[in-house]
Amino acid sequence: MTYLAAMEFASDEYFMREALRQARRAYAADEVPCGAIIVREGEIIARAWNQVEMLKDATAHAEMLAITQAEAAVEDWRLNDCDLYVTKEPCPMCAGAIVHTRLRRVIFGCPDPRGGGAGGLMNILQMPQLNHRCVITSGILADECAALLRDFFRARREEAGLMKLTTEDTETTEERPI
Ligand SMILES: [Zn+2]
Repeated sequence: MTYLAAMEFASDEYFMREALRQARRAYAADEVPCGAIIVREGEIIARAWNQVEMLKDATAHAEMLAITQAEAAVEDWRLNDCDLYVTKEPCPMCAGAIVHTRLRRVIFGCPDPRGGGAGGLMNILQMPQLNHRCVITSGILADECAALLRDFFRARREEAGLMKLTTEDTETTEERPI
């Protein structure tokens, strides 16, 4: 690894820790634990965590909320000189928003082979047909990011199991295992 590559790797880990901090806030609020931050010239200009349940809004993924904050911070919808760090591979909706706002780099923690829009299920971030392509770095602190999701869904399943034992009319929640 060259010196510059090593420096970049170290700062990717640093910023991913910040994204993980956001994901933990989602976990504490009983939201699917995903966190995202946006960095411009070494400075964090947006921080967000998944708030789908709280806002009752299926589009309130961490990346979407962070993008809106970043646009406000730079007073422009173009985020060409900004990098997005997110704990899980972005879904196709967020990947679409990332292309629209022309983010330079997307750095994610754990991959999502079943639903990811950055190479897992499909690669919207690097589609030759679209007018913008991002540089992707994957697998930064992947184990920590994945463990948070795993713990969250395991706890939910256990809770659902207990509910089933105590009540007759339980709703079944469909969750995609990570
Ligand atoms: Zn998303």
